[in-house]
Amino acid sequence: MVTVDFNEKRCKACGLCADACPLGIIYVNTDRVMVNGLGCAELKENKCIGCKSCVTVCPDAAISLRRTDEDK
Ligand code: SF4
Ligand code: SF4
Repeated sequence: MVTVDFNEKRCKACGLCADACPLGIIYVNTDRVMVNGLGCAELKENKCIGCKSCVTVCPDAAISLRRTDEDK
């Protein structure tokens, strides 16, 4: 399994990752106001297939993939 971590100190809530995800599982949570005052991207549900489209598109290097095999 893979999941995605969003760095709340880097994310500027641009939404590019949400547009890029082929599964549509990313959204920008504007209730989660962070240092930038804009919110932070989050997963709606963890069905991530590890395609890295979101990592590639993020202009602020705010996204990293993390294996969760150890959680099984
Ligand atoms: S592309 Fe990067 S900066 Fe933009 S909303 Fe997604 S994580 Fe945040
Ligand atoms: S790695 Fe791919 S499937 Fe997973 S959240 Fe990013 S764009 Fe979506």
